[in-house]
Amino acid sequence: MERTNFTHYVFVTGGVISGLGKGITAASLGAVLRSKGQKISMQKLDVYLNVDAGTLRPAEHGECYVTKDGAEADLDLGHYERFLDTEMTQKSSVMSGKLFLKLIEDERAGKYGGEDVQMVPHFTGLIQQTIIEAGEGSDVHIVEIGGTVGDIESTAFMEAIREMALKFPGRCAFAHLVYLPWLGTSKEFKTKPAQNALRDLRSVGIIPDLVLVRSEKPAPTAAAEKIAMFGGIPRESVILLPNARTVYEVPLTLEDHKAGDIIARKLNLKPKKSDVKKWQRVVESATVAYQKTVKIGVVAKYLDNEDTYFSVIEALRSAAWANHVNLKFDWIDAEKIELEGVESLHQYSGLLIPGGFGARGLEGMVQAARFAMDNNVPYLGICLGMQMAVVAAARKAGLANAQTSEVEPLTPDPVIYIMANQKSKELTGGTMRLGNYPCKIKKGSQAEKLYGTHWIEERHRHRYEVNQKYNKFYEQAGMLISGTSPDGSLVEVIEMPELNFFVGTQAHPEFRSRPDRPHPLFNGFVAAAKKG
Ligand code: GLN
Repeated sequence: MERTNFTHYVFVTGGVISGLGKGITAASLGAVLRSKGQKISMQKLDVYLNVDAGTLRPAEHGECYVTKDGAEADLDLGHYERFLDTEMTQKSSVMSGKLFLKLIEDERAGKYGGEDVQMVPHFTGLIQQTIIEAGEGSDVHIVEIGGTVGDIESTAFMEAIREMALKFPGRCAFAHLVYLPWLGTSKEFKTKPAQNALRDLRSVGIIPDLVLVRSEKPAPTAAAEKIAMFGGIPRESVILLPNARTVYEVPLTLEDHKAGDIIARKLNLKPKKSDVKKWQRVVESATVAYQKTVKIGVVAKYLDNEDTYFSVIEALRSAAWANHVNLKFDWIDAEKIELEGVESLHQYSGLLIPGGFGARGLEGMVQAARFAMDNNVPYLGICLGMQMAVVAAARKAGLANAQTSEVEPLTPDPVIYIMANQKSKELTGGTMRLGNYPCKIKKGSQAEKLYGTHWIEERHRHRYEVNQKYNKFYEQAGMLISGTSPDGSLVEVIEMPELNFFVGTQAHPEFRSRPDRPHPLFNGFVAAAKKG
Protein backbone atom coordinates (compact mmCIF):
# COMPACT_ATOMS: atom_id res chain seq x y z
CA MET A 1 0.00 0.00 0.00
CA GLU A 2 2.77 2.39 0.96
CA ARG A 3 4.21 2.56 -2.52
CA THR A 4 0.96 4.09 -3.71
CA ASN A 5 2.41 7.35 -2.45
CA PHE A 6 5.00 7.19 -5.14
CA THR A 7 2.79 6.37 -8.10
CA HIS A 8 2.39 9.12 -10.64
CA TYR A 9 -0.49 9.24 -13.06
CA VAL A 10 -0.71 10.18 -16.71
CA PHE A 11 -4.23 10.50 -18.06
CA VAL A 12 -4.67 10.17 -21.80
CA THR A 13 -7.90 11.55 -23.23
CA GLY A 14 -9.13 12.10 -26.76
CA GLY A 15 -11.00 14.82 -28.60
CA VAL A 16 -12.68 15.49 -31.98
CA ILE A 17 -13.25 11.86 -33.02
CA SER A 18 -12.49 8.38 -31.79
CA GLY A 19 -10.39 5.89 -33.67
CA LEU A 20 -7.29 8.09 -33.77
CA GLY A 21 -5.03 5.48 -32.22
CA LYS A 22 -5.24 6.71 -28.64
CA GLY A 23 -4.26 3.28 -27.35
CA ILE A 24 -1.18 3.14 -29.54
CA THR A 25 -0.22 6.69 -28.56
CA ALA A 26 -0.72 6.01 -24.84
CA ALA A 27 1.27 2.77 -25.12
CA SER A 28 4.03 4.57 -27.02
CA LEU A 29 4.24 7.19 -24.29
CA GLY A 30 4.52 4.29 -21.86
CA ALA A 31 7.32 2.78 -23.95
CA VAL A 32 9.26 6.05 -23.92
CA LEU A 33 8.85 6.52 -20.16
CA ARG A 34 9.80 2.90 -19.60
CA SER A 35 12.98 3.41 -21.60
CA LYS A 36 13.78 6.16 -19.10
CA GLY A 37 13.89 3.57 -16.33
CA GLN A 38 10.39 4.13 -14.97
CA LYS A 39 8.23 1.22 -13.87
CA ILE A 40 5.09 1.61 -15.95
CA SER A 41 1.60 0.19 -15.60
CA MET A 42 -1.32 0.93 -17.88
CA GLN A 43 -5.07 0.86 -17.66
CA LYS A 44 -7.95 1.42 -20.05
CA LEU A 45 -11.14 2.93 -18.69
CA ASP A 46 -13.99 2.41 -21.11
CA VAL A 47 -17.15 4.42 -20.78
CA TYR A 48 -19.42 1.68 -22.15
CA LEU A 49 -22.05 0.31 -19.83
CA ASN A 50 -20.91 -3.22 -20.63
CA VAL A 51 -19.23 -5.07 -17.78
CA ASP A 52 -16.37 -6.25 -20.00
CA ALA A 53 -15.48 -6.65 -23.67
CA GLY A 54 -16.46 -10.33 -23.76
CA THR A 55 -19.96 -9.64 -24.98
CA LEU A 56 -19.07 -6.97 -27.52
CA ARG A 57 -19.44 -7.77 -31.20
CA PRO A 58 -15.92 -8.25 -32.56
CA ALA A 59 -16.85 -6.98 -36.03
CA GLU A 60 -17.75 -3.62 -34.51
CA HIS A 61 -15.61 -3.25 -31.44
CA GLY A 62 -12.55 -5.14 -32.62
CA GLU A 63 -10.71 -8.00 -31.04
CA CYS A 64 -11.49 -9.12 -27.53
CA TYR A 65 -8.09 -9.24 -25.87
CA VAL A 66 -7.54 -11.88 -23.20
CA THR A 67 -5.16 -11.35 -20.29
CA LYS A 68 -3.24 -14.09 -18.49
CA ASP A 69 -5.67 -13.90 -15.57
CA GLY A 70 -8.66 -14.22 -17.87
CA ALA A 71 -10.00 -10.70 -18.42
CA GLU A 72 -11.97 -10.29 -21.64
CA ALA A 73 -10.64 -6.88 -22.41
CA ASP A 74 -10.52 -4.02 -24.84
CA LEU A 75 -8.02 -4.46 -27.66
CA ASP A 76 -5.97 -1.50 -26.44
CA LEU A 77 -4.53 -3.86 -23.84
CA GLY A 78 -2.85 -5.63 -26.75
CA HIS A 79 -1.05 -2.40 -27.64
CA TYR A 80 -0.01 -1.96 -24.01
CA GLU A 81 1.45 -5.46 -23.89
CA ARG A 82 3.24 -5.16 -27.21
CA PHE A 83 4.72 -1.72 -26.46
CA LEU A 84 5.60 -2.34 -22.82
CA ASP A 85 6.37 -6.06 -23.09
CA THR A 86 4.49 -6.46 -19.81
CA GLU A 87 1.47 -8.66 -19.17
CA MET A 88 -1.72 -6.84 -18.27
CA THR A 89 -4.26 -8.10 -15.72
CA GLN A 90 -7.94 -7.89 -14.81
CA LYS A 91 -7.25 -4.48 -13.31
CA SER A 92 -5.92 -3.10 -16.59
CA SER A 93 -9.30 -2.92 -18.32
CA VAL A 94 -12.34 -1.45 -16.63
CA MET A 95 -15.67 -0.61 -18.20
CA SER A 96 -18.36 1.56 -16.65
CA GLY A 97 -20.66 -1.45 -16.36
CA LYS A 98 -18.23 -3.19 -14.03
CA LEU A 99 -18.12 -0.14 -11.76
CA PHE A 100 -21.88 0.36 -11.79
CA LEU A 101 -22.37 -3.30 -10.96
CA LYS A 102 -20.16 -2.93 -7.91
CA LEU A 103 -21.80 0.34 -6.90
CA ILE A 104 -25.26 -1.18 -7.01
CA GLU A 105 -24.20 -4.40 -5.30
CA ASP A 106 -22.63 -2.33 -2.52
CA GLU A 107 -25.77 -0.24 -2.22
CA ARG A 108 -27.92 -3.39 -1.94
CA ALA A 109 -25.53 -4.77 0.67
CA GLY A 110 -26.13 -1.66 2.74
CA LYS A 111 -22.56 -0.44 2.45
CA TYR A 112 -23.62 3.18 1.94
CA GLY A 113 -25.39 3.24 5.31
CA GLY A 114 -28.40 5.29 4.24
CA GLU A 115 -26.53 7.89 2.19
CA ASP A 116 -27.80 9.15 -1.17
CA VAL A 117 -25.66 7.30 -3.69
CA GLN A 118 -24.54 9.74 -6.37
CA MET A 119 -22.39 10.00 -9.48
CA VAL A 120 -20.22 12.44 -7.50
CA PRO A 121 -18.69 11.43 -5.13
CA HIS A 122 -19.61 7.73 -5.17
CA PHE A 123 -19.20 6.73 -8.79
CA THR A 124 -16.26 9.09 -9.29
CA GLY A 125 -14.76 7.74 -6.06
CA LEU A 126 -15.01 4.22 -7.41
CA ILE A 127 -13.26 5.30 -10.61
CA GLN A 128 -10.45 6.81 -8.55
CA GLN A 129 -10.19 3.71 -6.41
CA THR A 130 -9.80 1.43 -9.43
CA ILE A 131 -7.13 3.74 -10.86
CA ILE A 132 -5.19 3.80 -7.59
CA GLU A 133 -5.40 0.04 -7.14
CA ALA A 134 -4.25 -0.67 -10.69
CA GLY A 135 -1.32 1.74 -10.35
CA GLU A 136 0.00 0.35 -7.09
CA GLY A 137 3.66 -0.56 -7.25
CA SER A 138 4.52 1.39 -10.40
CA ASP A 139 6.33 4.69 -10.84
CA VAL A 140 3.99 5.91 -13.56
CA HIS A 141 0.49 4.61 -14.15
CA ILE A 142 -0.89 5.57 -17.55
CA VAL A 143 -4.67 5.70 -17.75
CA GLU A 144 -6.38 5.91 -21.12
CA ILE A 145 -9.97 7.10 -21.06
CA GLY A 146 -12.05 5.65 -23.90
CA GLY A 147 -14.25 7.73 -26.17
CA THR A 148 -13.95 11.47 -26.61
CA VAL A 149 -14.26 14.30 -24.12
CA GLY A 150 -17.79 15.64 -24.23
CA ASP A 151 -19.47 12.24 -24.58
CA ILE A 152 -22.29 11.97 -22.06
CA GLU A 153 -20.84 8.73 -20.71
CA SER A 154 -17.39 10.16 -20.07
CA THR A 155 -18.44 13.05 -17.82
CA ALA A 156 -17.90 11.21 -14.53
CA PHE A 157 -14.53 9.92 -15.70
CA MET A 158 -13.35 13.44 -16.53
CA GLU A 159 -14.48 14.66 -13.12
CA ALA A 160 -12.71 11.73 -11.44
CA ILE A 161 -9.38 12.43 -13.10
CA ARG A 162 -9.68 16.20 -12.56
CA GLU A 163 -10.10 15.52 -8.85
CA MET A 164 -7.13 13.14 -8.86
CA ALA A 165 -4.89 16.07 -9.82
CA LEU A 166 -6.10 17.92 -6.71
CA LYS A 167 -5.82 14.89 -4.46
CA PHE A 168 -2.30 14.04 -5.66
CA PRO A 169 -0.73 17.42 -6.39
CA GLY A 170 2.33 17.27 -8.59
CA ARG A 171 1.75 13.62 -9.38
CA CYS A 172 -0.71 13.85 -12.29
CA ALA A 173 -0.19 14.80 -15.91
CA PHE A 174 -2.66 15.02 -18.76
CA ALA A 175 -2.17 14.21 -22.43
CA HIS A 176 -4.88 14.96 -24.96
CA LEU A 177 -5.06 13.49 -28.44
CA VAL A 178 -6.80 15.56 -31.09
CA TYR A 179 -7.38 15.31 -34.81
CA LEU A 180 -6.23 17.69 -37.49
CA PRO A 181 -8.35 17.22 -40.60
CA TRP A 182 -7.03 18.04 -44.07
CA LEU A 183 -9.50 19.69 -46.38
CA GLY A 184 -8.80 18.59 -49.93
CA THR A 185 -10.92 21.29 -51.55
CA SER A 186 -9.14 24.23 -49.96
CA LYS A 187 -5.87 22.31 -49.51
CA GLU A 188 -5.40 23.19 -45.88
CA PHE A 189 -5.34 21.71 -42.42
CA LYS A 190 -8.11 22.86 -40.14
CA THR A 191 -7.19 23.46 -36.51
CA LYS A 192 -10.66 24.50 -35.35
CA PRO A 193 -11.83 21.01 -34.28
CA ALA A 194 -8.66 20.64 -32.19
CA GLN A 195 -9.19 24.08 -30.65
CA ASN A 196 -12.76 23.14 -29.78
CA ALA A 197 -11.62 19.86 -28.30
CA LEU A 198 -9.17 21.71 -26.05
CA ARG A 199 -11.93 24.08 -25.02
CA ASP A 200 -14.13 21.09 -24.15
CA LEU A 201 -11.33 19.75 -22.00
CA ARG A 202 -10.83 23.14 -20.31
CA SER A 203 -14.55 23.27 -19.58
CA VAL A 204 -14.22 20.16 -17.42
CA GLY A 205 -11.30 21.76 -15.61
CA ILE A 206 -8.37 20.12 -17.33
CA ILE A 207 -5.52 21.85 -19.11
CA PRO A 208 -3.34 19.27 -20.84
CA ASP A 209 0.41 19.07 -20.38
CA LEU A 210 0.80 17.44 -23.76
CA VAL A 211 -1.33 17.81 -26.88
CA LEU A 212 -0.82 15.12 -29.48
CA VAL A 213 -2.10 16.08 -32.90
CA ARG A 214 -3.00 13.23 -35.24
CA SER A 215 -3.22 13.84 -38.95
CA GLU A 216 -3.22 11.62 -42.00
CA LYS A 217 -0.50 13.61 -43.74
CA PRO A 218 2.43 15.55 -42.26
CA ALA A 219 1.15 18.93 -41.09
CA PRO A 220 3.12 22.19 -41.05
CA THR A 221 4.48 23.44 -37.72
CA ALA A 222 2.23 26.48 -38.18
CA ALA A 223 -0.69 24.21 -37.32
CA ALA A 224 0.96 23.25 -34.04
CA GLU A 225 1.69 26.93 -33.32
CA LYS A 226 -1.93 27.82 -33.86
CA ILE A 227 -3.19 25.01 -31.64
CA ALA A 228 -0.68 26.04 -28.94
CA MET A 229 -1.65 29.71 -29.14
CA PHE A 230 -5.41 29.25 -29.10
CA GLY A 231 -5.30 26.33 -26.71
CA GLY A 232 -3.09 28.22 -24.25
CA ILE A 233 -0.47 25.48 -24.29
CA PRO A 234 3.31 25.93 -24.53
CA ARG A 235 4.42 25.39 -28.13
CA GLU A 236 6.82 22.54 -27.29
CA SER A 237 3.96 20.63 -25.65
CA VAL A 238 2.04 20.38 -28.93
CA ILE A 239 3.37 17.42 -30.89
CA LEU A 240 2.38 16.58 -34.43
CA LEU A 241 1.78 12.90 -35.06
CA PRO A 242 1.14 12.26 -38.75
CA ASN A 243 0.37 8.72 -39.87
CA ALA A 244 3.40 6.57 -39.26
CA ARG A 245 4.89 3.90 -41.56
CA THR A 246 4.35 1.44 -38.74
CA VAL A 247 2.76 1.95 -35.34
CA TYR A 248 6.13 1.13 -33.76
CA GLU A 249 7.43 4.42 -35.09
CA VAL A 250 5.24 6.38 -32.67
CA PRO A 251 7.60 5.99 -29.67
CA LEU A 252 10.39 7.41 -31.85
CA THR A 253 8.32 10.42 -32.90
CA LEU A 254 7.34 11.07 -29.28
CA GLU A 255 10.98 10.80 -28.26
CA ASP A 256 12.08 13.18 -31.04
CA HIS A 257 9.70 15.76 -29.63
CA LYS A 258 10.72 15.10 -26.01
CA ALA A 259 7.26 13.96 -24.94
CA GLY A 260 8.78 11.81 -22.19
CA ASP A 261 10.81 14.73 -20.83
CA ILE A 262 7.77 17.01 -20.81
CA ILE A 263 5.79 14.48 -18.77
CA ALA A 264 8.75 13.69 -16.50
CA ARG A 265 9.24 17.38 -15.77
CA LYS A 266 5.59 17.84 -14.93
CA LEU A 267 5.71 14.86 -12.56
CA ASN A 268 9.03 15.90 -11.01
CA LEU A 269 10.58 12.60 -11.97
CA LYS A 270 14.31 12.25 -12.34
CA PRO A 271 14.43 9.82 -15.22
CA LYS A 272 17.50 8.52 -16.95
CA LYS A 273 18.13 9.24 -20.60
CA SER A 274 15.71 7.45 -22.91
CA ASP A 275 16.86 4.50 -24.92
CA VAL A 276 14.67 3.88 -27.92
CA LYS A 277 17.11 1.68 -29.85
CA LYS A 278 14.72 -1.25 -29.56
CA TRP A 279 12.07 0.71 -31.46
CA GLN A 280 14.59 1.81 -34.07
CA ARG A 281 15.35 -1.85 -34.67
CA VAL A 282 11.67 -2.79 -34.86
CA VAL A 283 10.91 0.05 -37.29
CA GLU A 284 13.91 -0.90 -39.40
CA SER A 285 12.77 -4.53 -39.61
CA ALA A 286 9.19 -3.44 -40.32
CA THR A 287 9.97 -1.02 -43.14
CA VAL A 288 12.88 -2.58 -45.02
CA ALA A 289 12.00 -4.34 -48.29
CA TYR A 290 12.98 -8.01 -48.13
CA GLN A 291 13.75 -10.12 -51.17
CA LYS A 292 11.07 -12.67 -50.52
CA THR A 293 7.34 -12.23 -49.85
CA VAL A 294 5.02 -14.68 -48.17
CA LYS A 295 1.38 -14.53 -49.03
CA ILE A 296 -0.90 -15.72 -46.26
CA GLY A 297 -4.60 -16.39 -46.62
CA VAL A 298 -6.55 -15.66 -43.45
CA VAL A 299 -9.82 -17.56 -43.61
CA ALA A 300 -12.21 -15.86 -41.23
CA LYS A 301 -15.75 -14.74 -40.66
CA TYR A 302 -15.66 -11.23 -39.19
CA LEU A 303 -14.25 -9.23 -42.05
CA ASP A 304 -15.85 -5.80 -41.75
CA ASN A 305 -13.22 -4.45 -39.43
CA GLU A 306 -9.48 -5.13 -39.49
CA ASP A 307 -9.25 -4.61 -35.75
CA THR A 308 -11.11 -7.88 -35.18
CA TYR A 309 -7.92 -9.90 -35.53
CA PHE A 310 -5.44 -7.21 -34.56
CA SER A 311 -3.14 -9.40 -32.46
CA VAL A 312 -3.15 -12.18 -35.06
CA ILE A 313 -1.96 -9.78 -37.74
CA GLU A 314 0.64 -8.20 -35.45
CA ALA A 315 1.94 -11.69 -34.62
CA LEU A 316 2.14 -12.54 -38.34
CA ARG A 317 3.97 -9.29 -39.06
CA SER A 318 6.48 -9.83 -36.32
CA ALA A 319 7.10 -13.39 -37.55
CA ALA A 320 7.61 -12.07 -41.09
CA TRP A 321 10.20 -9.54 -39.88
CA ALA A 322 12.04 -12.21 -37.90
CA ASN A 323 12.09 -14.41 -41.00
CA HIS A 324 13.19 -11.53 -43.24
CA VAL A 325 10.22 -11.70 -45.57
CA ASN A 326 7.60 -9.18 -46.63
CA LEU A 327 4.14 -10.13 -45.46
CA LYS A 328 1.12 -10.00 -47.72
CA PHE A 329 -2.15 -11.29 -46.48
CA ASP A 330 -5.64 -11.59 -47.84
CA TRP A 331 -8.82 -11.85 -45.86
CA ILE A 332 -10.80 -14.76 -47.18
CA ASP A 333 -14.47 -14.91 -46.31
CA ALA A 334 -15.10 -18.45 -45.05
CA GLU A 335 -18.66 -18.33 -46.41
CA LYS A 336 -17.30 -17.55 -49.87
CA ILE A 337 -15.29 -20.77 -49.81
CA GLU A 338 -18.55 -22.63 -49.13
CA LEU A 339 -20.03 -21.07 -52.27
CA GLU A 340 -17.05 -20.96 -54.58
CA GLY A 341 -14.82 -23.82 -53.43
CA VAL A 342 -11.15 -23.89 -52.52
CA GLU A 343 -9.55 -23.20 -55.91
CA SER A 344 -8.53 -19.67 -54.98
CA LEU A 345 -6.48 -21.00 -52.07
CA HIS A 346 -3.73 -22.29 -54.39
CA GLN A 347 -2.11 -18.86 -54.51
CA TYR A 348 -1.14 -18.83 -50.82
CA SER A 349 2.07 -19.95 -49.21
CA GLY A 350 0.28 -20.39 -45.90
CA LEU A 351 -3.26 -20.54 -44.54
CA LEU A 352 -4.32 -19.30 -41.12
CA ILE A 353 -7.70 -19.73 -39.47
CA PRO A 354 -8.16 -17.55 -36.40
CA GLY A 355 -10.67 -17.77 -33.55
CA GLY A 356 -14.39 -17.23 -33.84
CA PHE A 357 -17.82 -18.11 -32.52
CA GLY A 358 -21.09 -19.42 -33.91
CA ALA A 359 -22.00 -21.68 -36.80
CA ARG A 360 -21.68 -19.26 -39.70
CA GLY A 361 -18.77 -19.93 -42.06
CA LEU A 362 -17.53 -23.04 -40.29
CA GLU A 363 -18.01 -25.32 -43.30
CA GLY A 364 -15.75 -23.06 -45.37
CA MET A 365 -13.10 -23.26 -42.67
CA VAL A 366 -13.26 -27.06 -42.61
CA GLN A 367 -12.79 -27.05 -46.39
CA ALA A 368 -9.82 -24.68 -46.12
CA ALA A 369 -8.20 -26.86 -43.43
CA ARG A 370 -8.74 -29.94 -45.59
CA PHE A 371 -7.20 -28.10 -48.54
CA ALA A 372 -4.09 -27.33 -46.48
CA MET A 373 -3.93 -30.97 -45.38
CA ASP A 374 -4.28 -32.39 -48.88
CA ASN A 375 -1.93 -29.92 -50.56
CA ASN A 376 0.72 -29.69 -47.86
CA VAL A 377 0.22 -25.93 -47.48
CA PRO A 378 1.51 -24.59 -44.14
CA TYR A 379 -1.43 -24.22 -41.81
CA LEU A 380 -1.88 -22.50 -38.47
CA GLY A 381 -5.20 -23.03 -36.71
CA ILE A 382 -5.97 -20.86 -33.73
CA CYS A 383 -8.71 -22.00 -31.36
CA LEU A 384 -11.65 -22.29 -33.79
CA GLY A 385 -9.05 -22.85 -36.54
CA MET A 386 -7.70 -25.83 -34.62
CA GLN A 387 -11.17 -27.20 -34.01
CA MET A 388 -12.03 -26.98 -37.72
CA ALA A 389 -8.78 -28.81 -38.59
CA VAL A 390 -9.87 -31.62 -36.26
CA VAL A 391 -13.26 -31.82 -38.01
CA ALA A 392 -11.46 -31.93 -41.37
CA ALA A 393 -9.12 -34.71 -40.19
CA ALA A 394 -11.96 -36.85 -38.83
CA ARG A 395 -13.88 -36.51 -42.09
CA LYS A 396 -10.75 -37.35 -44.08
CA ALA A 397 -10.45 -40.56 -42.05
CA GLY A 398 -13.99 -41.52 -43.07
CA LEU A 399 -16.11 -40.11 -40.26
CA ALA A 400 -18.40 -38.37 -42.73
CA ASN A 401 -20.64 -36.74 -40.16
CA ALA A 402 -17.83 -35.32 -38.04
CA GLN A 403 -18.94 -31.93 -36.82
CA THR A 404 -18.63 -29.45 -33.99
CA SER A 405 -21.60 -29.30 -31.68
CA GLU A 406 -21.29 -25.51 -31.92
CA VAL A 407 -23.12 -25.95 -35.25
CA GLU A 408 -25.64 -28.50 -34.05
CA PRO A 409 -25.78 -29.49 -30.36
CA LEU A 410 -27.10 -32.99 -31.13
CA THR A 411 -24.84 -33.74 -34.08
CA PRO A 412 -24.19 -37.53 -34.33
CA ASP A 413 -20.38 -37.37 -34.31
CA PRO A 414 -19.36 -34.37 -32.24
CA VAL A 415 -15.59 -34.42 -32.66
CA ILE A 416 -15.68 -30.96 -31.11
CA TYR A 417 -18.08 -30.71 -28.21
CA ILE A 418 -18.91 -28.43 -25.35
CA MET A 419 -16.65 -28.81 -22.33
CA ALA A 420 -18.26 -30.71 -19.48
CA ASN A 421 -18.07 -27.76 -17.09
CA GLN A 422 -19.49 -25.34 -19.69
CA LYS A 423 -22.82 -27.12 -20.21
CA SER A 424 -24.60 -25.58 -17.31
CA LYS A 425 -23.23 -22.08 -17.88
CA GLU A 426 -25.02 -19.16 -19.37
CA LEU A 427 -23.80 -18.33 -22.83
CA THR A 428 -22.66 -14.81 -22.04
CA GLY A 429 -20.43 -12.82 -19.77
CA GLY A 430 -17.09 -14.13 -18.52
CA THR A 431 -18.11 -17.79 -18.35
CA MET A 432 -15.76 -19.39 -20.88
CA ARG A 433 -12.47 -21.14 -20.11
CA LEU A 434 -10.45 -17.94 -19.89
CA GLY A 435 -6.83 -16.96 -19.39
CA ASN A 436 -3.68 -18.96 -18.79
CA TYR A 437 -3.77 -22.74 -18.60
CA PRO A 438 -0.79 -25.07 -18.63
CA CYS A 439 -0.12 -27.57 -21.38
CA LYS A 440 2.16 -30.57 -21.56
CA ILE A 441 3.93 -30.96 -24.89
CA LYS A 442 4.75 -34.36 -26.35
CA LYS A 443 8.43 -35.24 -26.62
CA GLY A 444 9.73 -35.37 -30.17
CA SER A 445 6.79 -33.36 -31.58
CA GLN A 446 7.03 -30.33 -33.82
CA ALA A 447 5.38 -28.33 -31.04
CA GLU A 448 8.27 -29.27 -28.78
CA LYS A 449 10.76 -28.13 -31.40
CA LEU A 450 8.94 -24.84 -31.86
CA TYR A 451 8.44 -24.07 -28.19
CA GLY A 452 11.74 -25.57 -27.09
CA THR A 453 10.10 -26.91 -23.94
CA HIS A 454 7.58 -29.49 -22.68
CA TRP A 455 5.63 -27.23 -20.45
CA ILE A 456 3.89 -24.13 -21.72
CA GLU A 457 1.18 -21.77 -20.60
CA GLU A 458 -1.05 -20.06 -23.09
CA ARG A 459 -4.12 -17.84 -22.90
CA HIS A 460 -7.51 -19.33 -23.66
CA ARG A 461 -11.01 -18.25 -24.52
CA HIS A 462 -13.28 -21.08 -25.52
CA ARG A 463 -16.25 -23.22 -24.62
CA TYR A 464 -15.73 -26.23 -26.88
CA GLU A 465 -12.96 -28.82 -26.93
CA VAL A 466 -11.69 -31.81 -28.91
CA ASN A 467 -13.60 -35.01 -28.22
CA GLN A 468 -10.96 -37.68 -27.55
CA LYS A 469 -13.46 -40.47 -28.10
CA TYR A 470 -12.61 -40.10 -31.78
CA ASN A 471 -8.82 -40.16 -31.40
CA LYS A 472 -8.39 -43.11 -33.74
CA PHE A 473 -9.87 -41.10 -36.62
CA TYR A 474 -7.49 -38.20 -36.07
CA GLU A 475 -4.57 -40.63 -35.97
CA GLN A 476 -5.73 -42.33 -39.12
CA ALA A 477 -5.76 -38.98 -40.89
CA GLY A 478 -2.16 -38.39 -39.76
CA MET A 479 -2.98 -35.99 -36.97
CA LEU A 480 -1.05 -36.15 -33.71
CA ILE A 481 -2.25 -34.73 -30.42
CA SER A 482 1.00 -33.07 -29.40
CA GLY A 483 -0.16 -31.02 -26.42
CA THR A 484 -2.71 -31.65 -23.70
CA SER A 485 -3.71 -30.27 -20.33
CA PRO A 486 -1.42 -31.77 -17.64
CA ASP A 487 -3.95 -34.52 -16.82
CA GLY A 488 -4.40 -35.33 -20.50
CA SER A 489 -8.11 -34.57 -20.50
CA LEU A 490 -8.08 -31.54 -22.81
CA VAL A 491 -6.42 -31.38 -26.21
CA GLU A 492 -4.31 -28.23 -26.46
CA VAL A 493 -2.11 -28.70 -29.55
CA ILE A 494 -2.45 -30.83 -32.68
CA GLU A 495 -0.13 -31.29 -35.63
CA MET A 496 0.35 -33.41 -38.73
CA PRO A 497 3.92 -34.68 -38.55
CA GLU A 498 4.02 -35.83 -42.17
CA LEU A 499 3.31 -32.33 -43.46
CA ASN A 500 5.72 -29.39 -43.62
CA PHE A 501 3.75 -27.36 -41.11
CA PHE A 502 0.29 -28.11 -39.89
CA VAL A 503 -0.29 -26.97 -36.33
CA GLY A 504 -3.41 -26.10 -34.39
CA THR A 505 -3.73 -24.75 -30.89
CA GLN A 506 -6.73 -24.46 -28.63
CA ALA A 507 -5.14 -21.35 -27.15
CA HIS A 508 -4.57 -17.82 -28.47
CA PRO A 509 -0.81 -17.55 -28.94
CA GLU A 510 -1.20 -14.22 -30.74
CA PHE A 511 -1.65 -12.42 -27.43
CA ARG A 512 1.84 -13.35 -26.29
CA SER A 513 3.63 -12.34 -29.47
CA ARG A 514 5.81 -9.23 -29.38
CA PRO A 515 7.05 -7.00 -32.21
CA ASP A 516 10.67 -7.96 -31.54
CA ARG A 517 9.92 -11.53 -30.40
CA PRO A 518 7.34 -13.37 -32.48
CA HIS A 519 5.47 -16.21 -30.86
CA PRO A 520 7.16 -19.53 -31.76
CA LEU A 521 4.07 -20.96 -33.50
CA PHE A 522 3.73 -17.89 -35.73
CA ASN A 523 7.46 -17.89 -36.30
CA GLY A 524 7.42 -21.54 -37.37
CA PHE A 525 4.39 -20.99 -39.56
CA VAL A 526 5.93 -18.09 -41.46
CA ALA A 527 9.27 -19.90 -41.72
CA ALA A 528 7.45 -22.85 -43.34
CA ALA A 529 5.52 -20.52 -45.66
CA LYS A 530 8.82 -18.91 -46.67
CA LYS A 531 10.32 -22.30 -47.60
CA GLY A 532 7.27 -23.45 -49.54
N1 GLN B 1 -16.16 -21.10 -30.64
C1 GLN B 1 -15.11 -21.96 -30.22
C2 GLN B 1 -15.22 -22.30 -28.75
O1 GLN B 1 -15.95 -21.66 -28.04
C3 GLN B 1 -13.76 -21.33 -30.51
C4 GLN B 1 -13.48 -20.14 -29.68
C5 GLN B 1 -12.35 -19.30 -30.19
O2 GLN B 1 -11.95 -19.42 -31.35
N2 GLN B 1 -11.83 -18.42 -29.35
O3 GLN B 1 -14.59 -23.22 -28.29
